[in-house]
Amino acid sequence: MLKANFKVRPELVFEIEAKEQKDVFRNIASIQEVFSEKVCGLCGKPDIKFVVREIEDNEFYEMQCTNAGCYGKLAFGQNKKGGTIYPIRKLKDGLPAKSEDQPPFDFKTSGWHKYDKNKVAAKKPAGK
Ligand SMILES: [Zn+2]
Repeated sequence: MLKANFKVRPELVFEIEAKEQKDVFRNIASIQEVFSEKVCGLCGKPDIKFVVREIEDNEFYEMQCTNAGCYGKLAFGQNKKGGTIYPIRKLKDGLPAKSEDQPPFDFKTSGWHKYDKNKVAAKKPAGK
């Protein structure tokens, strides 16, 4: 059995236990992809919170910047199997890349984009 502690930030440490090197590697890759954001892609500050919103029985995973007035957001998609998620990095206009001649996302912002706080409020179901 292989054991590893993988520290993403001082307050965020993962314990990994696996039989094989490949599983350790896979676990680290998965953790890095999802949890390694250290700063907001828009303002560059480390004021990130994890948010799970529930809308009409669907869950939406995202990181939001808590720096006043920034409204930076990085949304996550959900894989159908395995309970894992992945970041949806977007282009400057807040849309995902659609063709191969476009860059996969806006490298300057690491694919973060501004969320429309009015739109978020409007999507919330009544009574919640
Ligand atoms: Zn920000």
